[in-house]
Amino acid sequence: MVAAMDDRPVIALTSRTLPLRATGKSRPTETVARSYIEAVEAAGGEVWLLPNRDDLDRVPTLLDRVDGIMLTGGDDPHPHLFGEEPLVGIDLVDERRDRFEIALVNAAREGGTAVFGVCRGMQLMNVALGGDIYQDIARQTDSRIQHTQSRVDDGPWHRVGIAAGSRLEALVGSGPIAVNSFHHQACRRVAAGLVASAICVEDGLIEAIEDPEAAFFLGVQWHPELTADLASRALFQAFIEAARSGAAASSN
Ligand code: MN
Repeated sequence: MVAAMDDRPVIALTSRTLPLRATGKSRPTETVARSYIEAVEAAGGEVWLLPNRDDLDRVPTLLDRVDGIMLTGGDDPHPHLFGEEPLVGIDLVDERRDRFEIALVNAAREGGTAVFGVCRGMQLMNVALGGDIYQDIARQTDSRIQHTQSRVDDGPWHRVGIAAGSRLEALVGSGPIAVNSFHHQACRRVAAGLVASAICVEDGLIEAIEDPEAAFFLGVQWHPELTADLASRALFQAFIEAARSGAAASSN
């Protein structure tokens, strides 16, 4: 019997390594928030969880087996990645994860694999391609608004303006749109080849970046996986569609 065609693209989600304590021993654990998994599944993707790893020479082989990469949120990228020492105000770092995700981003961009980054994921995309970030918004910018929201749900917190003519505009409209905000760092210098496609209305900080030449290479500073509004769903649907198209193209 021939199985029905299943065109769900495989989406690999990067993970966070936590030094969880179990049965009295410290056992590092790979974790992914369920919100990412559910958002990708709801948009029609087949989710694979991707543990952090050291054998970076295997990354191209790994990418041959998946159709899209979702870079999830997490700890701060290490400032050494963009030539700085850690300032007061920096949070946890995980250089092993940094190295793995940088290898993923570069190989995926080279091979045309769809990449969608959220929060740290967006910052990591920028750093991987040679851009940099503010290590701490409060200490390094004159922003007068708070980007680490304090409300009881994950709903919208501040507004972002959308760049005219961007891929993001095609997906969510010309805006501004209201987004949630859970970050203390932000993109500063955008890497060559990328453009800023959303800017915080109140303080001008970059809230989304994209590669205008790529099939899908987009990062957002907010967390669309936590909200089910039209704009958030549009982002996930476009990502899955790009991954599906890439899969179809590579199997021909
Ligand atoms: Mn924000």
